[in-house]
Amino acid sequence: MSRYRLLPTPAQQAVLRDHCGHARYVWNLAVEQHAHWHLGRKGAPGYLEQCRQLTAARAEHPWLAAGSQTVQQQALRDFARAMTAFFDPANPARRPSWRKAGRDEGFRIVGRGRQWDVRRVSRKVGLVWVPKAGWVRFRWSRAVPPDVKSYRVTMDRAGRWHVAFAVIPAPVPAPGNGQAVGIDRGVTVSAALSTGEMLHCPALTARERTRLRRLQRTLARAKRGSNRRGRVKHAIARLKARETDRRRDWAEKVSTGIARRFDVIRVEDLQIKNMTRSAKGTRGDPGRNVRQKAGLNRGILGSGWGLLVRRLEDKAPGRVEKIRPAFTSQRCSACGQVDGNSRESQAVFRCTACGLAGHADVNAAINIAAGHAVTARGGFREAGPANREPQLLLQSA
Ligand SMILES: [Zn+2]
Repeated sequence: MSRYRLLPTPAQQAVLRDHCGHARYVWNLAVEQHAHWHLGRKGAPGYLEQCRQLTAARAEHPWLAAGSQTVQQQALRDFARAMTAFFDPANPARRPSWRKAGRDEGFRIVGRGRQWDVRRVSRKVGLVWVPKAGWVRFRWSRAVPPDVKSYRVTMDRAGRWHVAFAVIPAPVPAPGNGQAVGIDRGVTVSAALSTGEMLHCPALTARERTRLRRLQRTLARAKRGSNRRGRVKHAIARLKARETDRRRDWAEKVSTGIARRFDVIRVEDLQIKNMTRSAKGTRGDPGRNVRQKAGLNRGILGSGWGLLVRRLEDKAPGRVEKIRPAFTSQRCSACGQVDGNSRESQAVFRCTACGLAGHADVNAAINIAAGHAVTARGGFREAGPANREPQLLLQSA
């Protein structure tokens, strides 16, 4: 996905806003119809039936009929595709859910040549054709791949418009050097490579963070519904959007570099969602280490780790292997000793057997690269139940 800043005129913005509203309306209608569907009942309406209903709805509601049929039909097609993905037993996706105004603003256009086209008009400016809005300017920040087939227009929470042209990222050819790399999702650094390199995912600068904190305090004091509150919210959204942009660029560059340099890329198979699930617990069973966990969560989410792994899988299909994460951080990458005490601190690993010392995340990354089989025997303690079955760390992707 290559994303560009869209620069619509005020009149075009009104059209785009309508498109977003119509796409959301149609999508939510489909969600509602499917919500009433359950096994054993007559099938929920398929795409064709929904198209007939859309025609009827357009006849009934002039505001819907005034909008673009292309936009509305595409929203239905997208929904049908999302449902197919949801029912795919091999790779089930999330159930398509309700879209909310202000949060999920966007629409998609396919059919280049018939419904839309894109062209460059100057060094820094491109034009994309949007139904009913005409040619809309966008910042030509990099080349638009020649084979793009569709695009999606979105408005972020800061009120900025973007256009993303859909291309399946071309796989990066493997270098053919037979080299494997391990990548550890770190806490002290975003990611450590088994080569010893540390990758830092960019975040907000210290000054931006201070500003964010100040804005958040102001927001807490601002009266509900006041103009000031609106302005402060807007400023906060802009700062957060800036951070997201940086993280995205970082994942794009880093994943291309890694896919180019190594034949096999090994990462831990982490269910980030499980790890970041709140540690608060219930009233009867209050969670332990709530504070530490909260800090750790911010680190993980801030690291852009999930994004990096997704991009690697896109660019190096079949070359990314997921490794079971057990013991990679307690195992010495030199002598193989497994001991929780070797992890001196978050950042430092010092083997209690052979004395190897180094960055804890790099040590883990080397273990991941090797995909070692580790058993629960040995000097292992405090890291899990002792009666655990020996397990192979290596799993095919
Ligand atoms: Zn050792």
